[in-house]
Amino acid sequence: MSISKKKIIHYLSTTSKGEINKLFSKANALTEKLYQNKIHFRGIIEFSNICEKNCCYCGLRKDLKIDRYQMTKEDILKCAKFCSDMGYGSIVLQSGELTTDKRLEFLINIISTIKKKYNLGMTLSLGELPKESLKELFKAGGHRYLLRIETSNEKLYKKLHPNDKNHSFQNRLNALENLKSLGYQVGTGVMIGLPFQTYEDLANDILFFKDFDVDMLGMGPYVPHPKTPLYKSPPILKDNFTLSLKMVALSRLVLKDVNIAATTALQVFDKQGREKALLAGANILMPIVTPTDLRKNYLIYPDKPCVEDTKEKCFNCITGRLKSIKKEMGQNNWGDSKHFYRRTKK
Ligand code: SF4
Repeated sequence: MSISKKKIIHYLSTTSKGEINKLFSKANALTEKLYQNKIHFRGIIEFSNICEKNCCYCGLRKDLKIDRYQMTKEDILKCAKFCSDMGYGSIVLQSGELTTDKRLEFLINIISTIKKKYNLGMTLSLGELPKESLKELFKAGGHRYLLRIETSNEKLYKKLHPNDKNHSFQNRLNALENLKSLGYQVGTGVMIGLPFQTYEDLANDILFFKDFDVDMLGMGPYVPHPKTPLYKSPPILKDNFTLSLKMVALSRLVLKDVNIAATTALQVFDKQGREKALLAGANILMPIVTPTDLRKNYLIYPDKPCVEDTKEKCFNCITGRLKSIKKEMGQNNWGDSKHFYRRTKK
């Protein structure tokens, strides 16, 4: 199915329930053709909230006074073991951005130990690291990397970030190029319903994903954080929950065989947010496995779901949710991006 930019904008802006449901069921049909009813899991370990950056929308930004933490190797390994025991197949190591040598050494050690002990699929989500660091992490066993572009509109990107060389749009693009050239499966994504953002911006985001030839997508609705500078600018677009589902569905139809996550932020707006995304083109879930006592300090956005829960509770909750929509976990399977293998002809 080829979809023009005009058509994408039409679907993003339509309020016709019939049209919207048809869009979601088309995207779900294609997803099931590609992956049957299997949903691949990545247990997400938010191992540190220390960040050198100051993105204007983020609850972990450097200038905010929050309790900062970094998990020990031992505690990270416990989380990885849990994922292995539960059959998750993959993990995500996520943190704020920190470019020190000490952090790099710590990560190389952790990644290689997890690979040796549990052979889990390994996605990294660590921000814009220098190319040399990314190379070391790839050698250690990281093979997928998530780095959101946040928006493909450079002018809007500038409004979301401080105006300095540490927050440049070009650096973000370069980092994405570096990941690709190093052999990672590359994931990106955007926030949906941002202040100043238009339907055309979102349509351009999907075309950017296509042009960049991404392997994975993680997108979610923008959730305004009252303690951040962006909070004072109200969004223009309404109902960013439905808009997010439409972005998932349209991305599936345009990009086809990429992995698309049903992100936790969807659940801020709708208790069945993630299930709805899994019925509209998403095929990946990222249950949180971060220890419960740390979750309240990893609030990129407010009202984050599952903050009081344990990893065991999240497992039971999520498997129940899947059952309710007649889908199931792709057990003990890395669930790599099919698109990556097609792109690289491996
Ligand atoms: S979005 Fe990422 S890089 Fe930016 S402040 Fe938040 S954690 Fe740091």
